[in-house]
Amino acid sequence: MPALQSNPGDNARAGSFDAVVVGAGFAGMYMLYRLRGLGFSVRVYEHGDDVGGTWYWNRYPGARCDVESMQYSYSFSDELQQEWDWSERYAPQPEILKYANHVADRFDLRRDIQFSTRVESAVFDERANRWSVTTSDGHTVTAQFVILATGCLSNARMPDIKGLSGFKGKVYHTGHWPHEPVDFTGQRVGVIGTGSSGIQSVPVIAEQADHLTVFQRTANFSIPARNLPLTDEERQAFRQNYREIRRFAREEARNGIYTDMPDRGALDDGGNERRERYEARWSRGGLTFMSVYNNLALDKAANDTAADFVRQKIAEIVEDPETARLLQPTSHPIGTKRICIDSDYYAAFNRPNVTLVDIKANPIEEIVPTGVRAGDKLYEVDALVLATGFDAMTGSVAKIDITGRQARTLNQKWAEGPRTYLGLMSNGFPNLFLITGPGSPSVLSNMIVSIEQHVDWIAHCAAYMREHGCETMEANRDAEDTWVAHVNDVAHGTLYPQANSWYMGANIPGKPRIFMPYIGGVGQYRQICNDVAAKGYEGFTMTAAERSKKAAVS
Ligand SMILES: Cc1cc2nc3c(=O)[nH]c(=O)nc-3n(C[C@H](O)[C@H](O)[C@H](O)COP(=O)(O)OP(=O)(O)OC[C@H]3O[C@@H](n4cnc5c(N)ncnc54)[C@H](O)[C@@H]3O)c2cc1C
Repeated sequence: MPALQSNPGDNARAGSFDAVVVGAGFAGMYMLYRLRGLGFSVRVYEHGDDVGGTWYWNRYPGARCDVESMQYSYSFSDELQQEWDWSERYAPQPEILKYANHVADRFDLRRDIQFSTRVESAVFDERANRWSVTTSDGHTVTAQFVILATGCLSNARMPDIKGLSGFKGKVYHTGHWPHEPVDFTGQRVGVIGTGSSGIQSVPVIAEQADHLTVFQRTANFSIPARNLPLTDEERQAFRQNYREIRRFAREEARNGIYTDMPDRGALDDGGNERRERYEARWSRGGLTFMSVYNNLALDKAANDTAADFVRQKIAEIVEDPETARLLQPTSHPIGTKRICIDSDYYAAFNRPNVTLVDIKANPIEEIVPTGVRAGDKLYEVDALVLATGFDAMTGSVAKIDITGRQARTLNQKWAEGPRTYLGLMSNGFPNLFLITGPGSPSVLSNMIVSIEQHVDWIAHCAAYMREHGCETMEANRDAEDTWVAHVNDVAHGTLYPQANSWYMGANIPGKPRIFMPYIGGVGQYRQICNDVAAKGYEGFTMTAAERSKKAAVS
């Protein structure tokens, strides 16, 4: 008996699919494209009412990518990458959303996506070796595979601040921004949070608002984007060299970004030379500031040279010395929290209509109907912007009630922190895949590179199972334990765990402190995944259709 359906159309109509994919961001869209191309029947469920994921939800002023658009884009279709024109070095959110829509249209994806529908639960039936997936519209479908393309940064974190619900003005979360334009003209606005979304939105809101009060708990390092319109020549240079650029990003780069590879450590240079190198990267702008030397994530003394350089820049830009001091990060090594990329963030604090409030020294006591009370002072505002980030990496997975073998839930299994093999599967949950799951490079990389790698790997694996008459695939416990230990060891060989970051779950009260992404680099990680597949999916157990049925009966 074939493990997969012979007639996708009929079975799909009967609510039975080869695969259910949860989420229609860049991961879910490409997963659908690949599985469909292999002849599998697929149903995608998406909570939002259209495609785009991150770029559908995060419509706040100033939202744009921080990996350059010519690289933060799909590579699977050469026609697509040759024909799409990015307007700027870092495209703004509306343009990235337009791109996602273009991809959905070009590859006719929408016909297999059910929008405005949340996946509420997924239960593995050990007798049938299939998942039952129940959605917010009350329907249940079954599928051999469930693939979570739910996103690492898709579960917006609402802060638990006394009085928030009683605030009489409008409250916006950057990760759930309204679809209609928001105009802050003439208003007093408060922004709570100075991570990436706060840092992107502050300069734009400052230009509109009558007054902007920025509530900062932790100062973050930010590097200027130096965003500019792309010229035809720049676009052409990428297009002509895309084959090599994409290969390098996948196979050689640690973070999935094509850039010069550092050949020396920060302490190998003398002070003047080092400063020149930092100046050159600061002038170039962007994330590659952190790859000027090869030991900034490893050696605290080396890291201090980069951190001191940025702190000095902040002091040069920000006119008021006390404000500059507050904006200078001191709580963590540079780069150990996701480094931010900005357009005039620090300079925004030179405007007469912008005030910085240090809520580490003077925590927010409560929100009252007219404003925010912190350190015995009331800051009156008409609107509040919560730039408070996400329950990252596991938040959206945890919201789905997932029950695997022996009625054990994934939330029970992950109570002390996520456990996966390669960030792709978790023991006890057969045929359940994660795209950019914890234990994979994910958020430490150009995520489209990591998404494409996982999608291709999962698609190959599903095709392999079909070819070999396999019904289930499951991560072995010992392989998973070894991988979790490896992820942890690699992380603790770096400075990353020194920061209270969302990589560690530290932004969510009560969340276990585990360094979740794999820091070994995308090139090395890809090689490991490829080797595992080449060895017949070493560390996983695949079970043929008949054998798995007998095991379930006995
Ligand atoms: C503001 C911002 C800027 C970013 N900039 C960059 C960048 O420059 N470079 C980079 O590499 N990465 C960036 N990222 C990370 C970004 O999330 C990824 O690059 C990428 O878009 C993730 O795609 P995805 O499909 O995996 O997840 P998402 O885009 O998050 O999509 C997941 C989708 O799943 C849906 N979903 C979740 N749970 C359910 C459920 N139970 N039922 C139904 N649907 C569900 C969500 O509604 C969402 O639409 C940024 C993130 C943010 C928030």
